[in-house]
Amino acid sequence: MPGGGDARGDRGVARFRFHGILEDLLPLSRRGATIEQAFTGERCVKDAIEALGVPHPEIDAILIDGLAVDFDRPLHAGDLVDVFPPAYAPAHGSLTPPIPSPPRFVLDGHLGRLARYLRMLGFDAAYRSDADDEWLAQVSAREARILLTRDRGLLRRAIVRNGYLPRSDDPRTQLDEVIRRYGLATEARPFTRCIRCNGRIEPVSMASVAARLEPKTKRYYDTFGRCDTCGAVYWPGSHFERMRRFVDDVTNGTRPQWRPPAR
Ligand SMILES: [Zn+2]
Repeated sequence: MPGGGDARGDRGVARFRFHGILEDLLPLSRRGATIEQAFTGERCVKDAIEALGVPHPEIDAILIDGLAVDFDRPLHAGDLVDVFPPAYAPAHGSLTPPIPSPPRFVLDGHLGRLARYLRMLGFDAAYRSDADDEWLAQVSAREARILLTRDRGLLRRAIVRNGYLPRSDDPRTQLDEVIRRYGLATEARPFTRCIRCNGRIEPVSMASVAARLEPKTKRYYDTFGRCDTCGAVYWPGSHFERMRRFVDDVTNGTRPQWRPPAR
């Protein structure tokens, strides 16, 4: 085999370089440097990279000594491994499966605010506050949903193909990250999805929802929508202007890009 190692007991040191936003996933002391990592036994490059803290759904290309490889390429002593996120690597083919269009998401139980923001922009964002890891991984795989979670162990599960770990713990900043990571600014369809349950908002006549409206609402508004799943009724009320400004702010992408804390 290449490298002349013993297939059952290969041991040595490989070097790793993480590029772009993948560096954010490393401990501060390891950013901006080539990481030397000892290994023993037969090990594929994916396992070695994940052991350094970068889950495979974050990775779009791996080059070993300048040549593109797959996740299951065995690691050899002396390998120089370059690891790239999407939209960063030169044209070397993609390890990330194509993203459904429009993209759809499933979010872990800690990302409720982010789920509501994505729904406000019209994206299909499955979320349950009581979701367990098994459900999240299964839904992501079965429905080709991008899994958003801050749990690296969950992202490392083999059945998870598309996923992203929000770097910030601030929901509004997480939204910017997701918009940028998946190029969503032009795909937003604001106010088409129910913020409470993720159902679709269909236009309805005032007469069909009149029984559920205050007299004042009926007097001042003539545009109404109803969630096709939970029945919630929506109209462009006082909170609407604030939400519209929020959506404009998000889709204009004028906020500065999130950077890891420099300590
Ligand atoms: Zn609903």
